[in-house]
Amino acid sequence: MTVKTGSDRLKTYQEAKDATFRKGKFIPYVSLIEDGDRALFRIVSEHDDAQAEINNADSVLTFGDFHRKQFLSARGKTFFKEVLCGYDFNEDIGSYEGECDQCDQDVAKRTKFMLWVYVYAYYHRTQNTDLTNPYEPVQVNKEKCYKEHINAFQVWQDGYYMEQLLRAKIDEHDTLLDRDYLVRRHGVRKSNKVTRSLTEAATNDITNVIDEVSGTPIMELALSLPSLVDIAEGNIETMDGHITRDEATPYEEVDLSFPEEDVFGKELDDIDDLPF
Ligand SMILES: [Zn+2]
Repeated sequence: MTVKTGSDRLKTYQEAKDATFRKGKFIPYVSLIEDGDRALFRIVSEHDDAQAEINNADSVLTFGDFHRKQFLSARGKTFFKEVLCGYDFNEDIGSYEGECDQCDQDVAKRTKFMLWVYVYAYYHRTQNTDLTNPYEPVQVNKEKCYKEHINAFQVWQDGYYMEQLLRAKIDEHDTLLDRDYLVRRHGVRKSNKVTRSLTEAATNDITNVIDEVSGTPIMELALSLPSLVDIAEGNIETMDGHITRDEATPYEEVDLSFPEEDVFGKELDDIDDLPF
């Protein structure tokens, strides 16, 4: 890499890099940072293979046991990342197989599910601290809030408690694709009692849901999304499916110079421990 000089140029350089990120280079995750933050989205992954075939969904609910591991970025900032456990539960023999460095170090693990969702918008209780990019003030159920337009695909990853809420919807509707959902965070930063609720929103045929940016049906766009299995296994970290490392490369050696908070939406103090 060529070294460049000048603070003005550095600013432009950083802005250009940020702009590249906002186009979704790194795989974005649904992240609710503050108390009351809501995400309004349409799920585009089905809950099982049979239902995916019926509704022409390209992806299916994916899950695994994840360790939340602490990393230090190249800029010295601490952040968390979900790392898939190296042990595999063998249903046939009813026990675990494999080996896992995180388990050896007693890093706790939790079962988490993952789905691709098309996020319309986030609703915040407060205006964006970045005043150059203000959110739209709106009224939702008589509550004043600030709408951050997204119109992009993100990975929705959550744990046991949300899985129970989601399962109730699956039992009731037999599909995940027939309506919008609103997920809301309850709990301030640094709280160890953060929960998230799931609310049903508008119901309509998913083939009629159009991406505002490109004018293309979202289910058509969803065909080119990276595989959830590859994302879960940590093989892919960018939207274009770029593999940033392989099994021969230890996790700690990944280049962490990217904007880590934006990528994962989770800061050190945002440990969203769920009540289980
Ligand atoms: Zn493990």
